[in-house]
Amino acid sequence: MSAPDNAHRLPLLGASRAHTELCGYCPKLCRPACPVSTVEGRESVTPWGKMRALGEWLGGASEIAPRAQRAWACTGCLHCRELCLLDNPVADTLSLGRAEALAAGYAPPEVTAFLEDLPRRAERLEACARRLGPGDADAATAWVPGCTSVVRETDHAEEVSQGIRRLAVGARVVADVCCGAPLWDAGDRQGFARQAERFAQRVQGRVRVVVGDPGCAYALKVLYPRVGVALPLVEHVSELALRERSRLSRRSDPEVPVYHDACKLGRGLGLFDAPRSVLEHLTGSAPDELDENRSRANCSGGGALLPVTRGATADALGRSLAEAVIFRHGPGRVVVTACASSRQRLRQAGVRAEDLSHWIARGVR
Ligand code: SF4
Ligand code: SF4
Repeated sequence: MSAPDNAHRLPLLGASRAHTELCGYCPKLCRPACPVSTVEGRESVTPWGKMRALGEWLGGASEIAPRAQRAWACTGCLHCRELCLLDNPVADTLSLGRAEALAAGYAPPEVTAFLEDLPRRAERLEACARRLGPGDADAATAWVPGCTSVVRETDHAEEVSQGIRRLAVGARVVADVCCGAPLWDAGDRQGFARQAERFAQRVQGRVRVVVGDPGCAYALKVLYPRVGVALPLVEHVSELALRERSRLSRRSDPEVPVYHDACKLGRGLGLFDAPRSVLEHLTGSAPDELDENRSRANCSGGGALLPVTRGATADALGRSLAEAVIFRHGPGRVVVTACASSRQRLRQAGVRAEDLSHWIARGVR
């Protein structure tokens, strides 16, 4: 007798069954793209292995927890999508698997502990955000720096905030409320939708929302519509800076940085050229490149709660990105990236990593 099919219990995944099955007919074209399986050296966490595990859960396999939890063996880097000739949406399907696993009680304990800790994290965010101040009450623009930068780089987040307010000719600072992306990554879809509503209320009445963190920009532009939350125009700070480049001065420091493409900014939102053009405007020269750049750029391991669920893998990815910088450009070069997690990880590995928003803010006349 065959195992009972689980599709009726797993409506989100059930609707994506075709995606989980597609990989089964494929010679794993995307295998070299996945940073998690590359570091761990395990077939079970290739995109193919993760999609197969969810397909087996759908198909009624026993031992559900290890299959369901493989949905968290992903940084959401979207690199597999670049190599998949079938356009199979692996990260999105794994995200559905996370939602099903959390609802069914199969989420990794680290994820449930992370969710329980969110109120404490929110308090810390609010405390750090007070340093940035509320900004300009009646401005048409809202400036959203991103939680990681506000909490871990509070000093420079304050300076960035002042610069972006000048560039935007006034901006309300929205730094004390999370966009909800961590809830999405944890699989808490309802919590994410509630947080999205809360965030939307905070920017209500503004004409545009300018965002510093690529993960937040991706959540606002791509994930909010999926839960039916509408926002004013959302743009990344590099788009604002490019449009207003006549108001950015050339830096006196002649150092040309190496540019690192953040996953969600490049592969996620297609913003490869705007940050490079802004850096070129600021320095007079195109930024230097890593060997793996643009759509092939390497992930630092900080995305989609990978540091929470697979800390050793995330750390190894951070070290690997730092080694790629040093191998190509030698020690001591400054790397500019929009991704706060990448900055943290590169700095931990001894690389001078700086914030694209900070470079922009310091250039405002
Ligand atoms: S994601 Fe695409 S390339 Fe990768 S195993 Fe599945 S079908 Fe093949
Ligand atoms: S999105 Fe990135 S980490 Fe996730 S399966 Fe694809 S390549 Fe691997």
